[in-house]
Amino acid sequence: MTIDLRSDTVTKPTAGMLEAMMQAEVGDDVFGEDPTVRKLEESCAKMLGMDAAVYCPSGTMTNQIGIKVLTQPYDEVICYKGAHIYKYEGGGLAGNSQVSVRLLAGDRGRLSTEEIEPQVNSADPHYPRTSVVALENTVVREAGSYYTLDQISKISSFARSRQLSMHLDGARLFNALTETKDRAVDYGKYFDTISICLSKGLGAPVGSVLLCKKELETQVRRVRKVFGGGMRQAGYIAAGGLYALHHHVDRLKEDHLRARQLGQTIAALPFVKSIMPVDTNIIIFELAAPVTPELFLGKLAAHQIKALPFSRTEIRMVTHLDFNDDMLNQTITVLKKLTF
Ligand SMILES: *Cc1c(COP(=O)(O)O)cnc(C)c1O
Repeated sequence: MTIDLRSDTVTKPTAGMLEAMMQAEVGDDVFGEDPTVRKLEESCAKMLGMDAAVYCPSGTMTNQIGIKVLTQPYDEVICYKGAHIYKYEGGGLAGNSQVSVRLLAGDRGRLSTEEIEPQVNSADPHYPRTSVVALENTVVREAGSYYTLDQISKISSFARSRQLSMHLDGARLFNALTETKDRAVDYGKYFDTISICLSKGLGAPVGSVLLCKKELETQVRRVRKVFGGGMRQAGYIAAGGLYALHHHVDRLKEDHLRARQLGQTIAALPFVKSIMPVDTNIIIFELAAPVTPELFLGKLAAHQIKALPFSRTEIRMVTHLDFNDDMLNQTITVLKKLTF
């Protein structure tokens, strides 16, 4: 039995999900004729209180389309310095949108109006035109820290008062909602575009959805085509996403509970220097020298346990649908026995 804690993207479809995928009614979605994709898009839009939704192959694509439709070349996007859109999308903002970024530290990646306000450029032509505030919820680089809707509404009001658009990278939005108990349907009004991933904690094999305002939908579909994201009988995979939204949202609290239990064990290990607070399903910790990620991961691998090197000193573990209590206990037993 291999235990894979590298990411919540490693899950395989459950029997129920596979069944739903095989039964899916499909058509050519580039012609707008796939009823399952339509259904997924409509469900997502309704769920998040947004006008429209567009199904895409990946969260990188939904983020990149979101920024593209909200900016002009030479604009500037304000985001957290470790934001996925900046740090983990291959420089796509520069290539796809030709925008610059203003990077903020945030409180564990969470921006505030106080921090954003002085960074909005004036109309002086020396400066790039600030056009978007992009938030991430949960913040992956900060071990899944999350915003409450109240914090978001304050940022959104400020952004609107300065004619700035709002983008949300909500790859793990449902993990945040699991903790805050805010309602998903209240999210839409604070953003122009929202990206959600179906292939992370929700356990679908493929796919992300970009939610947007009505007036952006045509442009979003155009850019998706340009980026090569127009898919044909995509209903087969969209059905996995629909199934995930119906069956795998409520269970995210189990992932959070297991992550916390794992975090408690890790915090007490002699070769661990520090650990970030475990707020959702992501655990990030720093090893104490001379233990390196390579050394640590090598020893874990000997017990068929996988985790991710996250920097030269840090390790990341992520809990998910395919990580159960037996695996948790096994991992805890192994970790406690490790010596260096
Ligand atoms: C995974 C992830 C994405 C999108 O990733 P894809 O692998 O392209 O689907 C976007 N933002 C965050 C915060 C993520 O963790």
